[in-house]
Amino acid sequence: MKKYNFYAGPAILPNSVLIEAAQAISDFNGLGLSILELSHRSKDIVSVFDEASALIYELLQADQEEYSVLWLSGGASSQFYMTAMNLLDPEDIAGYVDTGSWSSKAIKEAKLFGKIEVLASSKEDGYTFIPKNYAIPTHLKYLHLTSNNTIYGTQYQTWPDSQVPFVSDMSSDIFSRPIPLKKFDLIYAGAQKNLGPAGVTLVIVKKNILGKINREIPSMLRYQIHIEKESMYNTPPVFPVYVSLLTLRWLKARGGLDAMANNNTEKATILYNEIDRNGLFKGTVMKEDRSLMNVCFNSMKPEYEKPFLDLCNEAGCVGVKGHRSVGGFRASIYNAMEKDGILVLIDVLKELERKYG
Ligand code: PMP
Repeated sequence: MKKYNFYAGPAILPNSVLIEAAQAISDFNGLGLSILELSHRSKDIVSVFDEASALIYELLQADQEEYSVLWLSGGASSQFYMTAMNLLDPEDIAGYVDTGSWSSKAIKEAKLFGKIEVLASSKEDGYTFIPKNYAIPTHLKYLHLTSNNTIYGTQYQTWPDSQVPFVSDMSSDIFSRPIPLKKFDLIYAGAQKNLGPAGVTLVIVKKNILGKINREIPSMLRYQIHIEKESMYNTPPVFPVYVSLLTLRWLKARGGLDAMANNNTEKATILYNEIDRNGLFKGTVMKEDRSLMNVCFNSMKPEYEKPFLDLCNEAGCVGVKGHRSVGGFRASIYNAMEKDGILVLIDVLKELERKYG
C-alpha cells in the first residue's frame, strides 16, 4: 500500500514524477540507455538542464539577464558557507536572523568568512516565532533569512523591507507559493523537499552581486565559475536535476505557484483547525508565523504520543514524529501531498480524541 508521506525531507514527490523517473532509469528518451549512463554533455542531458532552468525562470518570472540559475551539489549546508565566501571580505558585515537550527548553522559557517551580526533571534523562546521589527543597518553586505524553519514549523508570511542585498535559504518552501523575486539577490534550496531527490541544490543568484570581493575562492565554490560553465564545471548530479525537471513540469501543469499556494493554504488550514479544535493536541508556534509546509504540534499529555503514532502507522501516515531535537509531532505537507492525505491524518487526530478525549 502506498503510504501518506509526511517526512520532512527527503520528502514526498508526485507519483507521476516517480513513475517517469523510474522509466528514465531503464530507458531514457528511447535511447536504449539509462539516464544514469549518459554523459552530462550529451544533447539529451544538456536539454534537461536547459528546460529545468527555463521552467524556473518562468515560474518565478525571473529575467535571464539579471539572474542565473545554478544546479550545484553539496546540499543547502554548503550554501551556508558558499554565500558568505562569495559575498564577504573578512572585514565585511552581514546580518542574519536566527530562527532555528538551520539559521544557526548558516551563521556559524558564515562567521568563517566575515563579520556576522545576528539582528534578531527567537532562540530564547524555543524558536516559536519569527522575529519582526528589527533594524536592518545599511552597512550590511547582505541580509540572510531562512524562509521556512523545517524543524520548528515557522515561516515568513511577509518579507522585511531590506535596503541591502537579500539572501534566503528557501530549502523547505521553495515553489510552495509565489515570491517577489525582485526583492531577492540570492536564493538557495536543497532539492529534497519540494523539488526532487537529495543530491542537487538550486541557487538563483542576481549576477550583479558577484565579483565584489578580493578573496581567492576555489573554483568549485565560486558562483561565477558555475555561471560561466552552466552548472557543468564538474560532473553535475544529472538524475536529481532530471527528477527536479519532472517536478517542475508537474508544478506548471498544476497551475504554477499561485495554484500551489492555494492548495498549500487550504491543506494547512484544515490541519491547523483540527489541531486547534481537538482537545488532545496543541500547535507549538505562534499562529501568525505558522508554516504551511511543516505543521508542528504536541499532544497535551506524553502518554498520548505512542498511541497517536501507532494510529498514524495503521492509517498509512508515516513521518509524523517531530525532529529528534524537539520531539512532538511534525506533519510535512509539501506541494506533492494531496488533500486526501491531510484528511486521513485529520481522521487519526479525531480517532485519538474518540479513544482518549
Ligand atoms: N536549510 C533548511 C531550511 C533545511 O530544512 C535543511 C535540511 N532539512 C537544510 C538547510 C540543510 O540541507 P542539506 O541537507 O541539503 O544540506
